[in-house]
Amino acid sequence: MNETAAVAERRSTRPLLLDHRTNPVTVGGGAPVSVQSMTTTKTADVEGTLQQVYALYGAGADIVRCTCNDVDAAAGLANIVPRSPVPIVADVHNSHRMALAALEAGVHCLRLNPGNIRRPEHIKLIASEARDRGVPIRIGVNGGSLDESLYQKYGGRVTPEAMVESAQMELAYFEEVGFDQVKISVKASSVPLMIEAYRQLSEVTDHPLHLGVTEAGPPPAGLIKATAGIAALLAEGIGDTIRYSLTADPVEEAKAGRQLLEAMGLRERKGLDLIACPSCGRAEVDVIKVANDAQEALEKLNLPIQVAVMGCVVNGPGEARDADLGIAAGRQKGHLFVKGQVVKVVPEPDMVEALVEWANRINDEGIEGALTHADSRAQAEADADRAAMLDDRGLDANHREQTIEMIRRHVAES
Ligand code: SF4
Repeated sequence: MNETAAVAERRSTRPLLLDHRTNPVTVGGGAPVSVQSMTTTKTADVEGTLQQVYALYGAGADIVRCTCNDVDAAAGLANIVPRSPVPIVADVHNSHRMALAALEAGVHCLRLNPGNIRRPEHIKLIASEARDRGVPIRIGVNGGSLDESLYQKYGGRVTPEAMVESAQMELAYFEEVGFDQVKISVKASSVPLMIEAYRQLSEVTDHPLHLGVTEAGPPPAGLIKATAGIAALLAEGIGDTIRYSLTADPVEEAKAGRQLLEAMGLRERKGLDLIACPSCGRAEVDVIKVANDAQEALEKLNLPIQVAVMGCVVNGPGEARDADLGIAAGRQKGHLFVKGQVVKVVPEPDMVEALVEWANRINDEGIEGALTHADSRAQAEADADRAAMLDDRGLDANHREQTIEMIRRHVAES
């Protein structure tokens, strides 16, 4: 099946440019869905923040946000922006002065929370400055900090309608000063609430949408919540840029964002995609350990390759035949295969090393080139091992028939 067939055609949105000197990023307008994350350092700490920005970039972030909460942070941004490898978004909460200072620092985008900067003249002043400088703004509505009047209007509850109305009110101020370079988010920590808010928003605007589940929490629960919300919307064709808000090292956010987009066929694979069987009674090796060791060794290569680690030679090579490279364990050996074809049989302790060697070979020579190095005896040896394992254990490694027979006997005897 075509990987993208499960994802609806993307909703048409207007394009926004985050005009970085060497690495400009377009959001919306059919551009690839971008990955964002946010630094956790003090923005005034220029070197520490830049180190994190580079780590996020390396992990797959296309855009990085830094807080601009005081004058030292704004001064920090003035030093960070020219040295950043990706567009920088300044996150501004309570002070319109900080928004203006961030614009002066040269940021590529602003994020404003309509629940916090309330005075229309301040909002319009920021929008006019951003318009004159060609800097987009994200209207970041947050379920947890909804404007009090909207909260009351909707019965003292945060509803999708209230969140959409908050975004529209802010948008109206921007339109008054002729500013339309706007993307919007309507995040909430409740997955059903954010999904419905984004659905409703996508019906009433063609501004690009920034998706996220706010305060998702630490992994794994935070990853699951964020993925549930973001993936559901992306599958409906909604969303132009995404952020995982995890209580974790932000590098995990960038990795998760990137991996989600790659898994949904919305971005090309940039790094390793390690697939591994869940292991079962047929496993001939500690699959969890081999998969973890392989992940650690292969990740360092930073190659766009799919690698399979399978616990047995009976089902492994067949189930992972589409992987670029894989290994399956059997009779204290590893059967190494490229696109399903066995190319080498190695001793079990050498499995990870062999994967690294062949991953490099595939990267250097391509699949066809790598296959020319296949050991001509490997397939016959693998077939013999597989046949011997089937002889030993039969098709049912968990001995279900004998187990059921035993249960029946015990019940009859009791
Ligand atoms: S049958 Fe083999 S490949 Fe499948 S889960 Fe069990 S050990 Fe892994």
